[in-house]
Amino acid sequence: MRVKLYRDILEANDIVAAQTRRLLDEKGIFCLNLIGSPGSGKTTLLELTVEHLLAEGRLHPAVIEGDIATTRDAERIEAKGATAVQINTEGGCHLDAGMMRAALEELPLNGTDVIFVENVGNLICPADFDLGEHAKVIVYSVAEGDDKPLKYPLAFRRAAVVVISKMDLLPHVTFDLAKVKAEIATINPELLVFPLSARTGEGLGPWFEWVCARADT
Ligand code: MG
Ligand code: ZN
Repeated sequence: MRVKLYRDILEANDIVAAQTRRLLDEKGIFCLNLIGSPGSGKTTLLELTVEHLLAEGRLHPAVIEGDIATTRDAERIEAKGATAVQINTEGGCHLDAGMMRAALEELPLNGTDVIFVENVGNLICPADFDLGEHAKVIVYSVAEGDDKPLKYPLAFRRAAVVVISKMDLLPHVTFDLAKVKAEIATINPELLVFPLSARTGEGLGPWFEWVCARADT
């Protein structure tokens, strides 16, 4: 019975998510849902990405921050000059489409071109819940070990992009990038992989270009 209950919850969620996607499409807003472990670098990647977009001045970003507690991440984004809304799930381990819809009501949609959603930190249930985004982006740091794609296949199957973060740490950790890429390809051959380092700036260019190209179409 619990299996059926979970399926019902997901079906109800998907209806709201589809409405949200229609709304975003009407407004011409491109939306990414970032998922990844705590400490994988999701907020740091968003800080750099909104900074880049604001400096370019062409696409206007907004961010929805999902966390169990605190407004720390929304404050970090606002300090960069972008609009941010914080959702506190108060224990909930993922965002759902209802939370996303409520957060969108707090944003000035008419002046926004790209919305980044930072999900609660884990690679499990955020993969299950469609929020109405156009693509899921996994942020996966080299410090997490190179065995994760096969251990969390649903996330890697549902995502369009994997950002492999903290590449500057590669000499200090056990992480075989070629093996990870090969394993990712067995799960989802379409998945785009962007290895990068927020600290050194290596690899950020292709990520920014992908975001801008997708937001422009
Ligand atoms: Mg964060
Ligand atoms: Zn959850």
